[in-house]
Parts: sequence; structure tokens; C-alpha cells
Amino acid sequence: MSHYITEPCIKTKDTACVDVCPVDCIHPRKDEPDFEREEQLYIDKDTCIDCGLCVDECPVKAIFPEDEVPAEWKNYIPLNVAYYEKKGR
Ligand code: SF4
Ligand code: SF4
Repeated sequence: MSHYITEPCIKTKDTACVDVCPVDCIHPRKDEPDFEREEQLYIDKDTCIDCGLCVDECPVKAIFPEDEVPAEWKNYIPLNVAYYEKKGR
């Protein structure tokens, strides 16, 4: 399983979650070239270890474990996946 970032991150993007993730699986980071272009951040499901540390850091409660993603935001799961597929990972 993995955690996923959903709609409230859009336009917030404060990257508080990035700083606590022990496996660096939340991107783009502020120092990455696509940070300005992307509307939100995404979690790499193949790297996430489901520690949950990012959940409490998020000021807008945008992050959920896969089985708790609210129904109206389920479409954000494939958006997280697609970001990393696009990067060829
Ligand atoms: S659950 Fe843990 S490993 Fe997964 S994105 Fe959040 S902080 Fe990183
Ligand atoms: S802490 Fe929340 S709002 Fe901030 S970048 Fe992470 S998911 Fe987005």
C-alpha cells in the first residue's frame, strides 16, 4: 500500500510533508525543476513505506493512506501514480 496526496494540496504546496518523509518519496521538492509547473505534490507508491509521518504535517489534511482516501478524491490516486510514470520511474 501507499499514501496519496489529494486535492487540498493544490495551491498549498508548502512541502511540510517533504521534510518529514524518511524515504524521500514526495515530489517535486522545491529544489526540483518541475516544482513551479506542478499544481500539487505526489507520493511515489513504490517507495512509500506507509509510516504516516506526512499525514500529521500537512496543514490542509491532503494526505491519506490508500484505503482512507475519501470517495470524492479517489481520482487523485492515479494522478500520483501518473506523475512517477511520466518521469520514467
Ligand atoms: S507515509 Fe511515510 S513514507 Fe509514505 S510518503 Fe508519507 S512520510 Fe513518506
Ligand atoms: S504538507 Fe500537504 S499541502 Fe503541503 S505539500 Fe505536503 S501534501 Fe501538499
